[in-house]
Amino acid sequence: MSLKTERTSKFPFPKLEAGLRQGNFEEVQLPYTLEEAMEEASRCVTCGNPICMDVCPLQTDIRGMCEAVARGDFSTAYHRIRETNPLLGTTARCCPQLDSLCEAACVMGSRGEPVASGMIQRFVADWERTTSKQPDPVRMEATGKKVAVVGGGPAGLAAAELLTRYGHEVTILDELPFLGGTAWYGIPDYHLPKDVLKYEAERILGMGVVAKTGVRVGRDVTLDELRSDYDAVLVATGAKDVTRSETPGSDLAGVYDGYQFLEDVFVGGVKSYLRNPKYNLGKKVLVIGGGDSALDCARTALRLTQGDVTMVYRRTEAEMPVDEILVGEGKEEGLKLMFLMAPKAYLGAGGRLRKATMSVMKLGEVDSSGRRSPVPTGETVDIECDSVIVAIGRGPSTFLQKSAGIATGPKGSIAIDGRSMTSVPGVFAAGDVVTGESLVVKAMSKGREAAQHLHEYLLGTQLEHRSLYDYYFTRRTSGRYYRDMLDGKEEVLPPE
Ligand SMILES: Cc1cc2nc3c(=O)[nH]c(=O)nc-3n(C[C@H](O)[C@H](O)[C@H](O)COP(=O)(O)OP(=O)(O)OC[C@H]3O[C@@H](n4cnc5c(N)ncnc54)[C@H](O)[C@@H]3O)c2cc1C
Ligand code: SF4
Repeated sequence: MSLKTERTSKFPFPKLEAGLRQGNFEEVQLPYTLEEAMEEASRCVTCGNPICMDVCPLQTDIRGMCEAVARGDFSTAYHRIRETNPLLGTTARCCPQLDSLCEAACVMGSRGEPVASGMIQRFVADWERTTSKQPDPVRMEATGKKVAVVGGGPAGLAAAELLTRYGHEVTILDELPFLGGTAWYGIPDYHLPKDVLKYEAERILGMGVVAKTGVRVGRDVTLDELRSDYDAVLVATGAKDVTRSETPGSDLAGVYDGYQFLEDVFVGGVKSYLRNPKYNLGKKVLVIGGGDSALDCARTALRLTQGDVTMVYRRTEAEMPVDEILVGEGKEEGLKLMFLMAPKAYLGAGGRLRKATMSVMKLGEVDSSGRRSPVPTGETVDIECDSVIVAIGRGPSTFLQKSAGIATGPKGSIAIDGRSMTSVPGVFAAGDVVTGESLVVKAMSKGREAAQHLHEYLLGTQLEHRSLYDYYFTRRTSGRYYRDMLDGKEEVLPPE
């Protein structure tokens, strides 16, 4: 089911003025004030059957959050969201809520405008982070079992959090120096400030999870070694294998891979990059691609160059697989868009890019993606440019499955069974390495699901210890919880 809606909010998202965003990586969307958050939350009619929660991959208790915020009880609101979502400030910012998620499903949408649950969740997460640190969820008695989680992105972090709540000893291994995965180095600071993600990752470590960074599994340590040192392994290595540009001239200086560009700018912190910039983008930049990653490259390039940045896409704006709100923000910042063009060749002089030859396209039949396909017309246009950034897609990271002989599925993804286990007994997998590139919230949901299966595997039970994972959803959708919530009664503790 694809749901999409628009916002004409009474409280339009407060935003950093477009003129102030030049050369500036500060967050664009500004928070609600306390009064705005409470007033917006009070628009929630606390549905008996909250569809907003059904469509959220983490089944976030949006209804319970709104109910508590509306009466100014931010602590209860925090714990209601935190039950199933350890990255609540992160997802509040980077979920496309109006596109098939909570806000798209909100019944208030049919009465004019959906409740801005993302902004309310952001208010609650920021309140906790900056004003009133709340206790972590309860940890169950230690089981003595040890689990290695390979990959500290959203899937690995969400899985590690649930496994540690179950009483297991969890170690995350990641090849990068920071936790957060693509959300750390891919999602730019103006959309997701790093202090938010860092705080939430550190809270997970604070629950007892150990992180070993700078370790590439499959090279620095083998999967077999992990299998003998730990009782089980969860692989959550993401979707990092980039679709390479095959356009002639791609090896010229000035033609860059967009994903590497984002990683280089953001992985060590944008301030550190600005002190020692690695890319010579010039003033006229073309970004090839029409998705969220291309948009992130373009808006990052705009901030770095304060120059002339154009996104070039082979279909039209209607087919762009991108968050419309974010494209709107890009346009406000001066981003240009060029449609029905695809690169044919990059031309240079002295080994340096000078211009791009573009094939002019037209729309043809609907293809397997459900969108009309781009078809070359035979015409070409030359566009002068100083640099080209290519972001045309990524697939599952395949390094570990190749080195360890794990059975694979489409595009080299890790194949799993119905209980999230790979072809190697005791090795589970989740997130974008299984599904291909998705969303932070979806990767987290898959990480939690695999953690639940891994936990059942370790304890040899599928009943007693299912509780924590299923408990919240069953309870929150029960009539009793609904009545208690409306009566403002205290939360009951989860079963031990
Ligand atoms: C540019 C860009 C922008 C995006 N913007 C958004 C957005 O706005 N909203 C949204 O919801 N989603 C967005 N996404 C998608 C989102 O970031 C991913 O879906 C999500 O991060 C996937 O989580 P994951 O944990 O499965 O993988 P990842 O986040 O990719 O994490 C995988 C981790 O595994 C580590 N790793 C890989 N191989 C090894 C190995 N062999 N040994 C040790 N460690 C290893 C990696 O270093 C990485 O830290 C964006 C993606 C990109 C590329
Ligand atoms: S669907 Fe909308 S009104 Fe209903 S509980 Fe969810 S946020 Fe509230």
